[in-house]
Amino acid sequence: MKVAASSGKPAFVFFVPLALGVHFFVQSTPLYTPQVPFVPDPRTPLPAQWKEPGYGKFLWIQSPNFGPRPKNAVVDTVVVHSTVVPTLENTTRLFYDTKSQVSAHFTIGRDGSVIQNVSTFERAWQAGVSMDAFGRKNVNDFSVGIEIVNLNDGKDPYPDAQVQMVGFVIHEMMRRFPIKQIVSHEFIALPRGRKNDPKNFPWEKLKWLDLPLYYGENPAAPAPVAKVP
Ligand SMILES: [Zn+2]
Repeated sequence: MKVAASSGKPAFVFFVPLALGVHFFVQSTPLYTPQVPFVPDPRTPLPAQWKEPGYGKFLWIQSPNFGPRPKNAVVDTVVVHSTVVPTLENTTRLFYDTKSQVSAHFTIGRDGSVIQNVSTFERAWQAGVSMDAFGRKNVNDFSVGIEIVNLNDGKDPYPDAQVQMVGFVIHEMMRRFPIKQIVSHEFIALPRGRKNDPKNFPWEKLKWLDLPLYYGENPAAPAPVAKVP
């Protein structure tokens, strides 16, 4: 392109519009434009053909049963449950169903397969009416709930692969949140005696996490109101 001086036009004829253009561009461009990276949605629908992910593998099958945590909620508690439902598949189906109105953040199968049901930044519906050792109610607000596939009859064993993954998931939660305690559903459920899960869980196998463990019945929790005969 020839923009030679031979055209006879003064230089500012070219430079003024250019300068105005640059000025407008600079004015209209913020100093810092946040770049939101594209993250593919990790949530998958319930597979038509069920397959356990396998030891140490995670599959995210989103439960619709959750809500936001309260503003400024600090997640500092892990609640451990057992499912009573005998399989990982059936527990996942239960949490997938809006009618059940229940969910957990993670469900851990007997072989150490992990299904994530709810983002840990959201509030899963796992603990129900509850209070912790510090007298704080609505434990769902500030906890991550982990379900362990087990009949909860006190006899069904918790295989090592499963217990290892429970410890692993809690350990990961400690990297993400200021976790200060692990509690059983039994300990926090109100009124006292409403829940007894996870029954006969081998708590000593979580000692390496070096966190206070609260399980069994909480003697400080209110007992059910006696029925008038
Ligand atoms: Zn429970």
